[in-house]
Amino acid sequence: MIRRRVSILGSTGSVGTSTLALMDAAETTGSGRFEVEVLTGGANIGRLAEQARRWRPALAITAYPERLADLNDALAGTGIATAAGDAAVVEAAQRPVDWVMASIVGAAGLRSAWAAAGTGATLALANKESLVCCGSALIERVRRSGGQLIPVDSEHSAIFQVFPAGAPERVARLILTASGGPFRTLTRAQMARITPEQAIAHPNWSMGSKISVDSATMANKGLEVIEAAYLFDMPSDRIDVVVHPESIVHSLVEYIDGSTLAQLGPPEMKTPIACALAWPDRLAWPAPRLDLAALGRLTFEAPDPVRFPALDLARQALQAGDGAPTIFNAANEVAAMAFLDRRLAFLNIAAVIADTLDGVTNSGVGSGSDNACDAALAVDAEARRVAETIIGRLARAA
Ligand code: MG
Repeated sequence: MIRRRVSILGSTGSVGTSTLALMDAAETTGSGRFEVEVLTGGANIGRLAEQARRWRPALAITAYPERLADLNDALAGTGIATAAGDAAVVEAAQRPVDWVMASIVGAAGLRSAWAAAGTGATLALANKESLVCCGSALIERVRRSGGQLIPVDSEHSAIFQVFPAGAPERVARLILTASGGPFRTLTRAQMARITPEQAIAHPNWSMGSKISVDSATMANKGLEVIEAAYLFDMPSDRIDVVVHPESIVHSLVEYIDGSTLAQLGPPEMKTPIACALAWPDRLAWPAPRLDLAALGRLTFEAPDPVRFPALDLARQALQAGDGAPTIFNAANEVAAMAFLDRRLAFLNIAAVIADTLDGVTNSGVGSGSDNACDAALAVDAEARRVAETIIGRLARAA
């Protein structure tokens, strides 16, 4: 039986909620027993309080100080300690536990994941910014603390499961699969008229709006190439991307002898979370099962760099190194949000990323340094400012 004392940073989002649902399922089947040290959430106090009443953590935190009174009211009489604010989340992330889920989105998630990475706990990483912005420094921090980093993103979980741990010399290349998003078959002329409503309707995965836009531009796959490069210490030219619209093969590792191992499953976010929760063991839960005969066929095609330029921009950022991946991430996030706000055309998202990469000084993030997190956040802030300026200029030109 799997026994863990866990903290969940971002418990009310989709990854956090799925993690708690899996813990519940494991307790029901008798395959796991979990204690909770910390739960942290955002503005959804009702959900956070409900989770806290079920799991009885030592501490429940809302990131929003103005919502602390509501949280206190909701947990009155339970004896569960409460706190509020980003600093409280970062401090709580340092509490000793066996396992931490880092699933807070964005820059706030970066600081708490960085804090958890220094504790020696197993770190289940769902926050993209931590790897994209702090890369090898984050991995080094986990290694020095005696902990282990386990990716939660489906593609990286797939590679993690079939990668020969400790023997990277056996690997020829990594192959990341991409769904291709909802606009895979559109022409560039049709893509010029894409609306936010069309972009957030993803064919296979149910996700938040920002990551749905990232999937539609393939900037998400670009970020995943960067993450894979750091996680598995692989250069950009040995990480390929193949479009696989069915999202059944989650990624592959090609060995030097020509043998290729893949991890497959229905597109279900809980499966990689279950893998991270139990690793190196396996968790029994009522998972959706693969039915290959019912699927009939799986298809693959090369990504189109003309219609989806964000993928190559990510590779350029990875090759430039230092702060360039952070600049790519920040510019993409600002541009995706501007598109959702109808301030930027869909095809201009990649243009903003390219111009921001050119317009920000790429330095200040040394790999392996103790202050990599602070340095990355400084580069991130500057890149966001430059990206907003570029978006304003494009709006005036339109
Ligand atoms: Mg993914």
